[in-house]
Amino acid sequence: MISVISSMIRGMLYLCIATLLFSSCSLLGLEEEEEETSTSSNSASTGSCRGRSGGVKDSSASLPNLKLPYPTGKSHVVGQGWGGDFTHYREGREHAIDFRMAEGVDTISAVGPGRVIAVKEDSNTNCITAGIPLSACTDAANYVYVDHGKGYLGRYVHFCQNCVAVNPGDVLTGGNYNLGYAGNTGYSGRPHLHFEMFDFEENCSVKYKLEGISGESYTAGQSYSSTNTASENWNDSNLSKYTGKVFSARGIELTSEIPWYAQVGESLPIAGKITDGKPAVTVFLIPDSLGNVRISGSIQTKTATNGTFNFTYQVPSVSPGLYRLGISSSSGTSWGYTKAPLFLIY
Ligand SMILES: [Zn+2]
Repeated sequence: MISVISSMIRGMLYLCIATLLFSSCSLLGLEEEEEETSTSSNSASTGSCRGRSGGVKDSSASLPNLKLPYPTGKSHVVGQGWGGDFTHYREGREHAIDFRMAEGVDTISAVGPGRVIAVKEDSNTNCITAGIPLSACTDAANYVYVDHGKGYLGRYVHFCQNCVAVNPGDVLTGGNYNLGYAGNTGYSGRPHLHFEMFDFEENCSVKYKLEGISGESYTAGQSYSSTNTASENWNDSNLSKYTGKVFSARGIELTSEIPWYAQVGESLPIAGKITDGKPAVTVFLIPDSLGNVRISGSIQTKTATNGTFNFTYQVPSVSPGLYRLGISSSSGTSWGYTKAPLFLIY
């Protein structure tokens, strides 16, 4: 009953937002939207694990030279390793390591070259001292997400307020892997860096090696010394792409590769098939910060032919910034954005 009432309220709320946005809004033509259900304790914006189809992925063959996430010569004690029973046991999040660091003093380095996807640094909230449970601690941790290439991103979490040294789109390349200062924001029992690797397709945590050693071997209570000299150069040909089952929660299987980093006016290849029998596909953008407000002028719907589609989507003229890209099966007037991935327009 509570969920029925809450969805009614949500529907009414959405109607109000839609009425503000679309002057010709009718009940019949109203598009369906779905609330994203995120179990992430770091950010509500990136969604949770989209579901593993072939077991846990391992990034170490593609990214064999990753280093520890702090500068060469520095040592830090591991507070919690893979599968740790404080927070690292959660499904899709099992391959994280916590390194104890001093708040506002110790610096965090990227584990390899890359391009910055997303940054948050405005929080000064520690959920534990504020009495906020893990399940509700969804937007309190400051973080940096880095595309390290070959379909993998690193997530660096718990920076202190205004302590992040990079912006979305920045390149981390030879000589400069610095991400900023460690902190204690979010669900954190003491100042530390939480590091994990995710894959772009499933958005689930993956296995990796640091300093040539499996992440599984990093043990709570032990100290590890870094040889991270920020020595490798980044090449944009390594940028990760969205493909395959990224949009499977919305009835889409992609065969084209779509960059997460695009310019206004750029043409994106949208090809694939519809897996839930609906007749069309709809592509649209929503701002990362405003869950259910679609960008006016960003919506494009194409009718599928025998369940497949192949067209180009031109990135609309919008302000540069972080959005989410929706690609959804569609009735023509009804679609949704469940687990839509990040999309940076520059
Ligand atoms: Zn952690």
